Amino acid sequence: MREEILRISGVNPLKCMKCGKCTASCPAFEKMEYHPHQFVEMVQNNHITPLLESESQYYCMSCLVCEERCPRGVKPQKLIEAVQVLKLRASEGNRLKPQDVANRLDPSLPQQALMAAFRKYSR
Ligand code: SF4
Ligand code: SF4
Repeated sequence: MREEILRISGVNPLKCMKCGKCTASCPAFEKMEYHPHQFVEMVQNNHITPLLESESQYYCMSCLVCEERCPRGVKPQKLIEAVQVLKLRASEGNRLKPQDVANRLDPSLPQQALMAAFRKYSR
């Protein structure tokens, strides 16, 4: 699973110097069981199952502040997104098809969320 996450994300967790700036800047910090720097460390150490089972991945708002603040260009958000993708791909019945979109639309939903959903829910 580690190799799959690295392939999906394009991230090299070995670049992390464990400074914690990503976690310190994350607006979802308090909600997350595992924080951005822990995603980096746990993927590196192949502790993927706890990340897949944790709700932490769903609290990420894709604000990219962690990427912006990282002095080493690690991009923790891409790892979190890759964990989400891995989980979605493991649950075959969970894909969003274009014909299903109209029934799920919320008028307050930003278009960016729709694009992100298509990216995540389709291969
Ligand atoms: S992209 Fe996600 S993990 Fe990174 S700072 Fe924003 S909410 Fe936190
Ligand atoms: S900010 Fe970057 S280098 Fe620092 S802990 Fe987070 S991922 Fe690692």
